[in-house]
Amino acid sequence: MVTAPVLALLESGEETGQAWVRAQTRRELHECFDLWLDALEEAMKEEPPSLEVLTRAVWARRQELTAQVTEVLVRQRHAQALGQKNAPCPHCGRLLPARGLVSRTVETLVGEVALERPYFYCLECKQGFYPLDAALELAERRKQWDIQETGARLAAEVPFETAQELFSQLTGLSLSDHTTHAVVGEVGRGLGVLEVSPTAEEIAQRVASVAQGQKQPPIMVLAIDGAHVPTRPPEAKGPGKGRKRQRARRARWHGEWKEAKGFRFYLVDKERIVHVLSWHQIQKDVQVGEALRQVKEAGLIPEEQVRLCVIGDGAKWIWNQAKELFPTAVQVLDYYHLSEHLHKVALAQFDADPLKEREWVEASKAKLFFGLLDWVLIDLEGMKPRDAAAAEEIRKLLGYLKENQGRVKYGSLRRKGYPIGSGGIESANKFISHVRLKRSGAWWYVEQANEMLALRCAKYNGTFRRVFDRYKQRAIKGQGEPPS
Ligand SMILES: [Zn+2]
Repeated sequence: MVTAPVLALLESGEETGQAWVRAQTRRELHECFDLWLDALEEAMKEEPPSLEVLTRAVWARRQELTAQVTEVLVRQRHAQALGQKNAPCPHCGRLLPARGLVSRTVETLVGEVALERPYFYCLECKQGFYPLDAALELAERRKQWDIQETGARLAAEVPFETAQELFSQLTGLSLSDHTTHAVVGEVGRGLGVLEVSPTAEEIAQRVASVAQGQKQPPIMVLAIDGAHVPTRPPEAKGPGKGRKRQRARRARWHGEWKEAKGFRFYLVDKERIVHVLSWHQIQKDVQVGEALRQVKEAGLIPEEQVRLCVIGDGAKWIWNQAKELFPTAVQVLDYYHLSEHLHKVALAQFDADPLKEREWVEASKAKLFFGLLDWVLIDLEGMKPRDAAAAEEIRKLLGYLKENQGRVKYGSLRRKGYPIGSGGIESANKFISHVRLKRSGAWWYVEQANEMLALRCAKYNGTFRRVFDRYKQRAIKGQGEPPS
């Protein structure tokens, strides 16, 4: 405990005083440790214990020790805030007297930390405050930032239930469903592409590491596409908590698959790909374009240092966007997406003959792969449609190929080292969306799906820490504001 003479010494600011406090703190810590060892010995009477018995005993009690160490350190480093008799109101500046000590226990990854700190109340502003809480940057929740961050990281990776299970197994602490959901929502709320993007310097570093030892600038791919996410309508939310009511409500709404659209920038380093930036949301094409524009205008893509290439599925808005924002980028029609179109023609034309169907698709794919687009066009133009449906499919494919002529030169693209599809490596956003959002029985509200997608983008972009810190700083600032 910090005693009055200690405080006097501290305030005098003398070096001897500081040394004395330090020595006193050490004594307290050693005492804690002795007591802790006694308890540990008591728990390990069985002879001779296996390593597992030993580590289990230490593990079970480790937080008693680490929490006590933390308490002692708080008392040492915040002696002034703890002994404060007067404090100015943070809103109006009036000097207020302390109204006694109030205890509070907070949960951290090192255990439950008990605090006893002076309380102040301003009658004018009608608000109370604890200078120690502000100095320690405490979260309003009992679960402090370190717990919240770990929980949010886990929940961004695995279903909420599994996240809570893993959390308690790994830390020996508990995390409720409610808190996990609330924290994920608060951290993910209001995030835009620039909040989850690495900085221009960080991206330049990734480019430099791939460029090392290469004669040509590295290839950077911009892949734009979508993945389907199971969503539920806002009506699914509603009053009533009982199981019966929930079931009744569920029967009234129908889930809907919505497209999470977005883009991913990555570097191609021989067989390896180096992730740069992902942004995916359930959103409209124009919002994807707007996000791309923000990335461009923030100067995040070092266009001079890379050979930029845009891969898309053929949707016109993608090429328009690419042409406007990255006019010098090489455009590539996704080879795997094109293959699906070939399958459609084959199915309509050779329906009765699966072997012929397969042969034609493979032959056409091979021709395209080697850059023989003309051969494919001649073949299609000379084809005698089996029926009206086949004629329609052939017409569509011809139109598609002609429109994308400049984007299917797979032979020369490959020779220059460009990838010919994003699907061969990994769909740009399947690993962001599907892995976490597409699970049996899980239907997401659009808002929550987008918060989760933003967090997953942050995680893969390497900016999770920054995103969490933004949430934390905002929460701390919000706590200091007067009630409205
Ligand atoms: Zn005041």
